[in-house]
Amino acid sequence: MTREELEELDRKDPLKLFRDEFSLPEGILYFDGNSLGALPKATPDRVNEVVAEEWGNKLVTSWNSAGWFSLPETIGNKIAQIIGADDGEVVCVDGTGLNIYKLHSVALKMRPDRKVILMEGSNFPTDAYITQGLIEQLGQHHQIRFVEKDDILDAITDDVALVSLTQVHYKMGHLLDMKAITQKAHDVGALVMWDLCHSAGALPVALNQCDVDFAVGCTYKFLNGGPGAPGYLFVAKRHQGKATQPLTGWWSHQKPFAFERDYQPKSDIGQFLSGTQPIISLAPVEVGVNILLRADMDEVRRKSLALGDAFIRLVDEHFSEYGFTLATPSDAEERGSQVSLRSEHGYPIMQALIEVGVIGDFRAPDIMRFGLTPLYTRYTDLWDAVMKLKSIMAADTWKAEQFNRVSEVT
Ligand SMILES: *Cc1c(COP(=O)(O)O)cnc(C)c1O
Repeated sequence: MTREELEELDRKDPLKLFRDEFSLPEGILYFDGNSLGALPKATPDRVNEVVAEEWGNKLVTSWNSAGWFSLPETIGNKIAQIIGADDGEVVCVDGTGLNIYKLHSVALKMRPDRKVILMEGSNFPTDAYITQGLIEQLGQHHQIRFVEKDDILDAITDDVALVSLTQVHYKMGHLLDMKAITQKAHDVGALVMWDLCHSAGALPVALNQCDVDFAVGCTYKFLNGGPGAPGYLFVAKRHQGKATQPLTGWWSHQKPFAFERDYQPKSDIGQFLSGTQPIISLAPVEVGVNILLRADMDEVRRKSLALGDAFIRLVDEHFSEYGFTLATPSDAEERGSQVSLRSEHGYPIMQALIEVGVIGDFRAPDIMRFGLTPLYTRYTDLWDAVMKLKSIMAADTWKAEQFNRVSEVT
C-alpha cells in the first residue's frame, strides 16, 4: 500500500469536510479520539456565550430563558438520534459510573427473584467496580458472573437478572452482537444494559431495533463533548416509572419547584435525574453531538472500517520483524473503531511515538491503542504514523530511559 493510494482515498472521502470543524494542532496525528475526542471549533464560542452572556448577563433567569433546566432532556433527545432511541428515552446527566449505579439498581429491583449479573471480566473495570459497590449496598445477595466474549451466550441462563455489557471493548476493540445477546437475555427473562462508551458516535447503534432495556455512555470520547463532560442514560419507554432509582434528588421529583417534604418520583425519563447539572460542561456536549447529527452514521462506519483495514495492512507490511501482534479482530465487522497492537514493549514505544506527535495510548499490560475517528482521521494520517513508528523501531529510540518511566495516566 502506497501513500498515493491513501491520498486518493482521502480525496474521495465523503466525510472529509468534517475535519475542518475540529481544532487539531499542526504537526499532531491524533489517534486517541476514543479516549478524549478532539475540540470542535465551535465549542469555545459556545462556552464563552454560556459563561459571559447566559450566566454573566442573564444570571439566574437563564434556568428558564436559556433552557438550562431542560438541557439534560434537550441533549438527551439529540443523543437518542445517534443511538437508535426515541424522544423521551435519553437524558444527558452525571457520569457513566453513576448512571450504571442508577440503572443496575432499577434492573435488579425489576427481577427480585434473580441474583446474577452477567458481565465481561476484561471490560473497563469501573462498570464492575460500581456493580460491586451496589451489591454491597444491597446486602451482598447478588453476584457477578464474569465471562469472556465467546462464552457470553451460553452463560445467559434463567438465574440471570441482568446482562450488563459494553458493546465495543475498550482495550481489544471487539464488537459484541447487541441483537443476539439482547434476544438471548430476553428469552430467559433477563434484562439488558449496554454501555455505549466506545460505540456511540463511532458506529450506528440501534437500541430500540434490538429491543434493549437500558443503556449508558459517555460523551467525551466519540461525541467530542470535552474532558469529564456528563454521560447519558437510556431507559426504554416500557420500563419508565416501573422502579425508583436510588439517587432520589429533587430534579427527579414530580414537582421540583413545589418543594414538598416527601419524595414523589417523576414517571418519565426525568426520574433518572438527581440534582443540579453542570451547565458549563453540558453546553459543549451539545456542540459535539450537533456535528454528529449531520454525519451519516453508515458512512462513519464504512470509513471507520476502511481506516482499520488500511492500518492493519500497513502494520503487516512494515513491522513483520518487530513482533507486533493484532489484538483487535482482523474481520472488520467484528471491530469497533480502533486498532490495538500487542507488544511487550508497548508502553515505551507509545511514549516515543507521542514524543514525535503521534498520539495514541497504552493499556496494561501490553496493548498500544490507536483510535480511529472517521470525522477527523485521514487515510494519509495512517501512513504518516506508520512511518514515524518505523523510524522509532529502526533506531531503537523507545529504549531511552525517558520513555520507560511510567506516568500516572497512560
Ligand atoms: C470510558 C468508559 C467509562 C468511563 O466512566 P466514567 O464514569 O466516565 O469515568 C466507563 N465504562 C467504559 C466501558 C468506558 O469505556
